[in-house]
Amino acid sequence: MAKYRNAAERIGDFRPVEMRLAPEELIGEMKRCQDCGIPFCHAAGCTLMNAIPEINAQALAGRWPMALATLLDASPFPEFTARVCPGLCEGSCVQGMHGAPVQCRQIEKEVIECGFSMGLVQPRIPAYRTGVGVGVVGSGPAGLAAAWRLNQAGLNVTVYERDARPGGFLRYGIPDFKLEKEVLDRRVDMLAIEGVVFECGVEAGVDVSGRLLKKRHGLIMLAGGARKKRDLAVPDRSLNGIHFATDFLGAVNRRVSGEAQDFPAAMDPRGKRVVVIGGGDTGSDCVGSSWRLGARDVLQVEIMPEPPRERAEGNPWPEWPRIRRDSSSHEEGGERRWSVATLEYLPAENDLARVGGLRCAEVDWSGDGAGSGPTVRDGSERIVQTDMVYLALGFTGPEDNPIFADLGVARGADGRLAVDGDGRAGAGVYAAGDAATGPSLVVRAIADGLRVAETLLVDHLDYYNQFASRQALAGVLSHA
Ligand SMILES: Cc1cc2nc3c(=O)[nH]c(=O)nc-3n(C[C@H](O)[C@H](O)[C@H](O)COP(=O)(O)OP(=O)(O)OC[C@H]3O[C@@H](n4cnc5c(N)ncnc54)[C@H](O)[C@@H]3O)c2cc1C
Repeated sequence: MAKYRNAAERIGDFRPVEMRLAPEELIGEMKRCQDCGIPFCHAAGCTLMNAIPEINAQALAGRWPMALATLLDASPFPEFTARVCPGLCEGSCVQGMHGAPVQCRQIEKEVIECGFSMGLVQPRIPAYRTGVGVGVVGSGPAGLAAAWRLNQAGLNVTVYERDARPGGFLRYGIPDFKLEKEVLDRRVDMLAIEGVVFECGVEAGVDVSGRLLKKRHGLIMLAGGARKKRDLAVPDRSLNGIHFATDFLGAVNRRVSGEAQDFPAAMDPRGKRVVVIGGGDTGSDCVGSSWRLGARDVLQVEIMPEPPRERAEGNPWPEWPRIRRDSSSHEEGGERRWSVATLEYLPAENDLARVGGLRCAEVDWSGDGAGSGPTVRDGSERIVQTDMVYLALGFTGPEDNPIFADLGVARGADGRLAVDGDGRAGAGVYAAGDAATGPSLVVRAIADGLRVAETLLVDHLDYYNQFASRQALAGVLSHA
């Protein structure tokens, strides 16, 4: 299993927590891959359809360049998923039926990092330009994947990003202890050398209208993510010391990378009793970041019930196991509680404008079978003392932006951008990633970016250009 640096040591810095497997462990993992007749890891697990058994076999045989070529055939950025993917492939690994699944993510990391250190991953400047242009809005994993694919196919690609630097949640959400930013910079630099133009600090739809972008580029790919934060608007929400998790994590990332010199005092957890509301990955990242910034105590609460330790009967293999997961941040200390609802924020005794506690209660999910949601357990109300609250309750869809009306893009009832089954959002307008699928995962954002880029190519390249750009791309995929 993944091994982490010693907890007492690692909370003193933001460097990656996970260590690479020793060579003999890695080889052991490759050998455990059974080259199944039906590779569920590939067919049912991985959204990118990484050919995992082939990669494992090629690496085991010492054919690293071949393993790398097979990996890059499915995914342009395996170095991201090798660090942050929950391992959908591992959830459906046959070995996982009776024990630990093959550590495919660790093998992926080794293959791509060896590829970089052996000098096999080099910028590939497209050999052919079609003359077709596209403006990509947003530089998260979906926007980067679409930009990569379209650029390699010979389109002139400009990526617009409102933040100071590209990467989306890869840069300003996920902390360095999970994904060191040198890895992101290495890839962004490579994309720029390959010909992708990045215009950062530009909010499409605000700084430049959608119609002007359309006129400038001809085609538009919307990949702005699902950034509208879910709030917990119970009484006294306006007290100081209550912050959205992604605002906190964005500030942490800016400070760690040196983009910002100071950490905003209002969000600083140093010496504070922190409560993180929300039990998912974002909440867990707040836990790990709080420890590193010197929090006194950290409690993470979640309204949903505690998941089982083993698969439940209704969640058989090869489905993704809906089990309790303890991240490296949880190992670092603090407490987790489930089935807890927050009913009210309470002011501090010595500062009535600042949060000092939460009125919480246990909830019962057994319900009446009519999907009526949780009920508060009588007599379970408690006051939880706190000095700082981070809200990690997920997102409700893309933020409002005039660009959608300007480009005639509709939104579904759930807030997502309305697209057809292939990612078309309007005439010459496409949408990919969280903006279209709803909040999800890096691996799904990359896969969606590639898939929708493919739709755009089929829609807008004439036969000759399709042929020529595919020939050029074939050169990219076989280069290793
Ligand atoms: C804290 C946190 C931790 C996470 N951890 C994991 C993890 O460990 N593993 C995992 O698989 N997933 C994780 N996720 C989820 C994952 O990061 C997202 O699903 C993924 O980043 C979505 O990619 P995207 O490209 O669709 O959007 P985003 O990454 O959200 O990128 C969208 C980009 O578009 C930009 N943008 C938006 N509107 C405009 C505009 N009008 N003009 C210009 N730019 C614009 C934004 O600034 C942003 O840079 C995490 C998410 C968060 C918040």
